[in-house]
Amino acid sequence: MTVSTVDQIQSDLMKTACPSCGTKELDLRLRCDLGQGECLYLIKCARCGTNYAVAAQTKRLASHQPTTEDLLSTLTCAHCASTKTELGFQCDLTSKECFYTITCKACGKPIKEYR
Ligand SMILES: [Zn+2]
Ligand SMILES: [Zn+2]
Repeated sequence: MTVSTVDQIQSDLMKTACPSCGTKELDLRLRCDLGQGECLYLIKCARCGTNYAVAAQTKRLASHQPTTEDLLSTLTCAHCASTKTELGFQCDLTSKECFYTITCKACGKPIKEYR
């Protein structure tokens, strides 16, 4: 069974709170009507209406599932040298972007952002 990029991001979105209003009502939409070949990934908050874009690196990462598991096992925390990492998804109000982050499970520090 393959998971599409859209399904993957949508399922991660359900666990992510909108940084503007704090509710987990983010919704992913594809816009393919712009005639530019690649579809745009737009995220909209159903509660407050704030729009976000999916960061370029995150889109690339989501479209190459299931490599995130492999990726996670190769990273080491620069702060405490732990290899226990986890993938999260968050949105940034300033840049209006949503992206994957990898954080250290041991000390909680961010290791990498996919913007
Ligand atoms: Zn909101
Ligand atoms: Zn750490």
